[in-house]
Amino acid sequence: MSLEFFNTMERRVVPFQSIRPGKVGMYTCGPTVYNYAHIGNFRAYMFEDLLRRTLEYFGYKVHQVMNLTDVDDKTIRDSRAAGLPLREFTAKYKQAFFEDLKTLNIEPAEVYPAATDHIPQMIRLISILMEKGYAYQAEDRSIYFSIDKFPDYGKLARIDRENQRSGVRIKNDEYAKDSVADFALWKAWDELDGDVAWDSPWGKGRPGWHIECSAMSSEYLGDAFDIHTGGIDNMFPHHEDEIAQSEAATGKKWVNYWLHCAHLMVNGEKMSKSLGNFYTLRDLLKMGWKGREIRWVLIGAHYRKKLNFTLDAIGQARETLTRFDEFFDRMRAVTKEGECSEAEQVVASAAAAFSAAIAEDLNISEALAAMFELLRTGNKLADSGELTKSGAERILAAFRKFDTVIGALEVDAVRTAEFPPEVVALAEERKAARKAKNFAESDRLRAEIGKLGFVVEDQPGNEYRLKKA
Ligand code: AMP
Ligand code: ZN
Repeated sequence: MSLEFFNTMERRVVPFQSIRPGKVGMYTCGPTVYNYAHIGNFRAYMFEDLLRRTLEYFGYKVHQVMNLTDVDDKTIRDSRAAGLPLREFTAKYKQAFFEDLKTLNIEPAEVYPAATDHIPQMIRLISILMEKGYAYQAEDRSIYFSIDKFPDYGKLARIDRENQRSGVRIKNDEYAKDSVADFALWKAWDELDGDVAWDSPWGKGRPGWHIECSAMSSEYLGDAFDIHTGGIDNMFPHHEDEIAQSEAATGKKWVNYWLHCAHLMVNGEKMSKSLGNFYTLRDLLKMGWKGREIRWVLIGAHYRKKLNFTLDAIGQARETLTRFDEFFDRMRAVTKEGECSEAEQVVASAAAAFSAAIAEDLNISEALAAMFELLRTGNKLADSGELTKSGAERILAAFRKFDTVIGALEVDAVRTAEFPPEVVALAEERKAARKAKNFAESDRLRAEIGKLGFVVEDQPGNEYRLKKA
């Protein structure tokens, strides 16, 4: 089956073909490690995970590189404010980031290069740009890329040449489209940088943000690779500047497919640190939500559509996942002997629908619809008494395969341990107490259950789930 993706460069859905058969080189702009990532950031990493898992589902071997921006304007600013050396300051957030990826069941990339470990590669790349005449040193001793020298500048973000202000310089890492200008490759040291500096042929300084990704991607993926991704806000200036640097240096086309995800929104605004309207993953875990529930929410809308975040949505995710949990338990409990041709049929049609959906620019809603359809027909077969053990196993196997992409179903989690009758009786009593809003009694019963070595978890609709403590 052929895969199709929306290539931002072309602004349309195009068939995907990798440079090397069966292999995909993919670069994803990673976190700036100056704080805990918020779940808006994780929408981007989740979309990239879905993309990666989809490529793997179709048999590709993915080589993914995700950089860690551990030196830039923001990391320097905040490490100074915290009174910590840059390395120590960023180490904490790097570690937190990897923990968060695990919680969200995001598959690890093959390489996580940190910018501060690749300064020589950046200096080499800037030297090439200097030699080729694309870069120059300004009066402030910093090195800038001259956008005038690169006629393709603006091709990704579609900026008219008239709007380009060649010769005007911008030193900040982040700036808006209306400030298009020559951008900094190497920033000469100033007192705001404190002790963050490296020697270079142009004096003491540090790299600009954009050169980090150009240098680290070619280090691990070569001068041309298949896919480059990020959130849509990365398109300009970051990705535009990356293209200018990389293609000016090599004289070749750099990236074949550019994929960007839309933002996670809160009340109509982008979730962002600067607006203060964000939740970190840790905030949500503290509230009692689980990684897989948050994953379900973030994955649930098509990556090119804005997704409005609400706590209600996580509540709905919990209900949906509980439905799946119960369904898997039900399938496991089927004992009837023999074949079940109907199960075979419904599995085949669900698998075909699922594959076709994700192949088509990661059409997640259709893919989820195929899963719900299989859940519904599976239940119907079980209701009718026709379902056999081998049929149920086929259904479970299909969900296992779907979950290589979805990553939230936990098809094989053991949930139906046999609970001692006295524990179940206490849980039922507690349920009645809760219904009667007798919360003191409900707390007492929870403690009783705890004493017997079990935990009771509340579920939507006054339901509960028992677990071994
Ligand atoms: P940063 O750490 O700011 O460089 O951002 C890391 C990644 O998160 C980038 O790919 C951004 O485009 C992405 N991002 C930031 N905010 C959001 C948001 N609200 N929704 C989706 N992606 C976002
Ligand atoms: Zn980048």
